[in-house]
Amino acid sequence: MSKKHNFSAGPCILPQEVFEKSAQAILDFNGIGLSLLEISHRSKDFVAVMDEARAIVKRLMNLNDDYEVLYLGGGASLQFVMVPFNLMKSENGKAAYLDTGVWAAGAIKEAKKFGTVDVVGSSKEDNYSFIPKDYTVGSEYDYFHCTSNNTIYGTQMKTFPKVDTLMVCDMSSDIFSRQIDFSQFDLIYAGAQKNMGPAGVTLVVVKKEILGKTGRDIPSILDYSQHVAKESMYNTPPVFPVYASLLTLQHLENNGGIAAAEARNEAKAKLLYEEIDRNPLFETFCKEEDRSLMNVSFRLLDESKKETFDNAWKAAGISGLNGHRSIGGYRASLYNALPIESVQVLVDVMKNL
Ligand SMILES: *Cc1c(COP(=O)(O)O)cnc(C)c1O
Repeated sequence: MSKKHNFSAGPCILPQEVFEKSAQAILDFNGIGLSLLEISHRSKDFVAVMDEARAIVKRLMNLNDDYEVLYLGGGASLQFVMVPFNLMKSENGKAAYLDTGVWAAGAIKEAKKFGTVDVVGSSKEDNYSFIPKDYTVGSEYDYFHCTSNNTIYGTQMKTFPKVDTLMVCDMSSDIFSRQIDFSQFDLIYAGAQKNMGPAGVTLVVVKKEILGKTGRDIPSILDYSQHVAKESMYNTPPVFPVYASLLTLQHLENNGGIAAAEARNEAKAKLLYEEIDRNPLFETFCKEEDRSLMNVSFRLLDESKKETFDNAWKAAGISGLNGHRSIGGYRASLYNALPIESVQVLVDVMKNL
C-alpha cells in the first residue's frame, strides 16, 4: 500500500523518519538488546531521552532557564483543569478567557469549577468565524487564557495581546509551526498529537516563578511544582510518545528549525487558499485575516458535487479530509510533516471538479 496524502487533524502525519526510527526503537533501542517499551523509565537510556526532549524544546523556543519543560499525560484536556488548579487563587480567584472555538470553550467550562471566569472576547455567536481582538485584560485577573489555533474552525491568532496578568496559551494545533516570541507566555501547553508527536503526551512549558502562589492544596499528580521537582518523572511518563516526540523535534531542528517550517507551512497554506478563493465551488468558514496556516476548513458551495468531489479526492490517495463533526464540510490539516506535494494533489482535484 503506498503512503496516503494524510490531511488528518490529529493524530496526524509525522515525518517518515520518525515512524522508522521509533519502529526500530520498539525492536531494539539504541542497540542495547532491549525494546524501548521494556526498559525502566529510570534507566540511563530513557533518562537521556527525557533530558534531551526537555532541552530541545527550550532551544527551539529560545527560552531561558526561567522556564521548565514537562511531558505529562492526560492530553490537552487535562490542562484545562491543571491550569486553573495551579494558577487561580483559592480565594476570589478570577481568570480571563478568550472564547474562539470548541476547545477554548472546553477550557472555560473547566475553569469555572475553580472560580470566576470572565470571557473577555467571543466569536461564538458568529460560529467562531473570527478571532475577537477588541478587549483588554487588567491586573485584577490571575491569568489570561487563549487558544493560538482553532483546529476545528480553521482560525489562528496572528498576534497576541499585551495583558496585565499571566499569559497562558493552548498551542495544541500550531506548536512549532511558526515563529513566535514564546517568552511573552508564562505557560504554554500542547497535546502532542497535532504537530509534535503521537497521542499520549502533552507538552507543558511553564515559567517557574508563577507556581505555588494560589493558596490551593493541589493533589500532587496535578501540581506542576511536583512535576518540575521530579524533572518530569513524578510518575512513569508515557515513554513511547515522549521518544517519538523527541524524534519529531530533532527532525525539525535538523531541517532548519521553526523558521524553515514556517516558510514551508506558509507556502502550503497559500497554495490551498488561493485555490479556494479562485474556485467558485469552495469557500472557507472564516474571515480571511484570521485564516489558519495549519487547519484549512472549507466547504463546497454546490452540494450536488459532493459525491464527485469525495470520490475524486479518495481516488487521488487523499485521507482525512472530512471536516470536524461539529461543522461538517472539509478540513485540510497542513501540519509540519505534510509535504507540499500532497497539497498540490488536493488542489489539482479541486481544479478538476
Ligand atoms: C485537540 C485539541 C485539544 C484536545 O486535546 P486532547 O489531547 O485530546 O485532550 C485541545 N486544544 C486544542 C486547540 C486542540 O486542537
